[in-house]
Amino acid sequence: MSHAPAVGIDEIESKALAASFGVPVPRGVRVGDLEEVPQHVAELQPPFVVKVLSNTPIHKSDVGGVKVGLTSNTEVMAAIQQMQDDPRVPAEVVSGYLVEEMAASGHELILGGRVDPSFGPVIMVGAGGIYVHVLDDVAVRVCPITADDALEMLQELRIAPVLFGARGQDPVDVDGLVDAIVRIGGADGLMMTHQDAISELDINPLIVGLNGLCAVDVRVVLAEGGTL
Ligand code: ADP
Ligand code: MG
Repeated sequence: MSHAPAVGIDEIESKALAASFGVPVPRGVRVGDLEEVPQHVAELQPPFVVKVLSNTPIHKSDVGGVKVGLTSNTEVMAAIQQMQDDPRVPAEVVSGYLVEEMAASGHELILGGRVDPSFGPVIMVGAGGIYVHVLDDVAVRVCPITADDALEMLQELRIAPVLFGARGQDPVDVDGLVDAIVRIGGADGLMMTHQDAISELDINPLIVGLNGLCAVDVRVVLAEGGTL
């Protein structure tokens, strides 16, 4: 059986989709080339992050395609220049650069969805960031889910004590987290609404702090023939 290659939309389009369902994403701008940097960056608050944009899903940090903690136009331009010169990022897959604000620090979770051939849309939440495969700490449900389901998913995780406040630590924004999970996996959520158009959604990481959260990396894979 032959499959068409998985088609992605780029990170800016994926974030716009998540934001249209009410999931907070960083403020950011698309930059085509270096001359545009000063004009665009003026709209943002430092520190900045620069990322390479591609319609083919890539692990940006593996190829030098993410630079965080930049504080000036000069640093942003240098970061883009470095990415343009880096042979690990083939020019033919680059559709531009994303300059965005850095999210407040917090715990890195993964929030994802996929359309299963037998169950339809499913949603998963778990420990995220670079240790996602090592930790293998995820809760999965068939959509649509309610806020109670979302809370239960969080309680199932091995990292639950960290999220709900353990050893005198303050809890993270659990209400915000439940809300974000429902906005993706609920009856009116992204997965149910776009189940014919997308095959996969991956927010990794969703950075959750004490008073808020932010989807700092969003990747959407379209279904064969799917359009948004
Ligand atoms: P990759 O394609 O490698 O997964 P990401 O966009 O997830 O790239 O960026 C890699 C890491 O950089 C993230 O896991 C996160 O720790 C950090 N990061 C990326 N964007 C931001 C941001 N806007 N604010 C804060 N941290 C960020
Ligand atoms: Mg990521």
